Amino acid sequence: MIEYFNHLESPSSSEIPQDPLVWLEQLGGPTSIWLNGKDRSRTRAVVTLLHGNEPSGMLAVHRLIREEVTPATNVLIVLASVEAALLEPTFRYRSYPGERDMNRSFNPPFSDSAGRIAQQLLRLLERYQPEAVLDVHNTSGKSPSFAVSTEQSLPHETLAAMFTERLVITELRMGSLMEQTEPKMPVVTIECGGAQEQAAHDLAYAGLKQFMETQSLFEIEHGLDMDIYHDPVRLELEQDLRLAFAPQPVLGVDITMLDQVDQFNFTLVPPGTLLGWVKGPDVLEHLRVADARGNNRFEQFFELCGNRLQTNATQKLFMVTTRPDIALSDCLLYSAVESQHERVHLEPLGD
Ligand SMILES: [Zn+2]
Repeated sequence: MIEYFNHLESPSSSEIPQDPLVWLEQLGGPTSIWLNGKDRSRTRAVVTLLHGNEPSGMLAVHRLIREEVTPATNVLIVLASVEAALLEPTFRYRSYPGERDMNRSFNPPFSDSAGRIAQQLLRLLERYQPEAVLDVHNTSGKSPSFAVSTEQSLPHETLAAMFTERLVITELRMGSLMEQTEPKMPVVTIECGGAQEQAAHDLAYAGLKQFMETQSLFEIEHGLDMDIYHDPVRLELEQDLRLAFAPQPVLGVDITMLDQVDQFNFTLVPPGTLLGWVKGPDVLEHLRVADARGNNRFEQFFELCGNRLQTNATQKLFMVTTRPDIALSDCLLYSAVESQHERVHLEPLGD
């Protein structure tokens, strides 16, 4: 059944090169890894490197196997976009040039290379029926950590809480892994923070260690507060827009975004905050603020003041990128209005 994936069965630490990049080169392509748990009747799953430019999850998995982690249950690990990650410069490419984005490829038909890898991954999950799935990512811009799920429930919240206090509940459907409802298991996307940040790598390691070692996933040990954000939207640009990131308007481009616009990630942004500049008002015809119902909600979130692009409501921006290629091929940023934010207190059972 495993046609596209390399498979490592209970690798010992001595088989794993010390340098994670040397290991990745050895693997060479999509790989599944099986770790036996103390309790061999249960399994958990970790998916990472769906995006080749997001190394935190892979680095954590490498470190945990090297340290001979003994998981509480079996763990199925999948490293997906290994080939994209290995392209020079390494960890630069989100997907392999010319291929679809892996995390937009989980809906049939599975006819291309990304689709076939996605289908293979879904078959593995169906076969091993993990009690939970984590999909570990990084943001391309600088960012605090957060989690994303398509459902709000105690299992989703406790999984997210192993990594972060921020959880976004999204109704957006784009063919990502976490949207899959069959087989039935909680799937949470973890955004560990910026792809270049050591703190993000450390967070992935600590969170995955806890995910693998804890006896019961859905019981929390200490009471904690979580910030939950609802109904996020995506600011999407048409692919042929000319886009620059700079501290002042760049001549000849359609949109200039502030070069440090990622500093707004998860800060509370009031109305009237400058994000960038447009060449003229007709640029608005080439961008949209998409919600889950297919509406363009630009006017609820943003406005033009002359050529200034600024916010129009108190909101939290997240996944703000400063990479033009990602902004054009996927989206520039996500946002959720502050009125859709709630703070939830999680209590250990029995307290
Ligand atoms: Zn990602």
